Amino acid sequence: MANPIYNITPFSLLDYPDKISCILWFAGCNMRCGYCYNPEIVTGQGRIAIEEVKQFLSSRTGLLDAVVFSGGECTSHKSIFELAGMAKDMGLSVKIDTNGSHPAVIKWLIDEKLVDYIALDFKALPSQFLKITGKKLVSAL
Ligand code: SF4
Repeated sequence: MANPIYNITPFSLLDYPDKISCILWFAGCNMRCGYCYNPEIVTGQGRIAIEEVKQFLSSRTGLLDAVVFSGGECTSHKSIFELAGMAKDMGLSVKIDTNGSHPAVIKWLIDEKLVDYIALDFKALPSQFLKITGKKLVSAL
């Protein structure tokens, strides 16, 4: 299985309200927004394996409140289920930053109580969606 994670930000006070978090940057995205501030992650390859993430989170026991799944698009990765479960097992809150293109994945995470905070980046109305995101992921009205 390809490594899912492009990079890890080990400490953030800004990315999860009122919590000390780290950020897992998931490699790749199914959109190509012109304003994207992480193009190297969108087009990059994952470099960090799940086991390395586990080792990292274990080394931060007691120091973090939460994990933020960002990217790239975290819901494009099947490993999001394992990583979210791992974080919850460690007592951490989970936030996802998502473009909303995989609603079934988000629903599953909610149903399984594996996500605590969802930051949905609403892109555009259907008529503007292709222009904004570079992808036809919704039908134009
Ligand atoms: S959805 Fe987000 S990560 Fe993907 S290209 Fe757009 S702004 Fe970048």
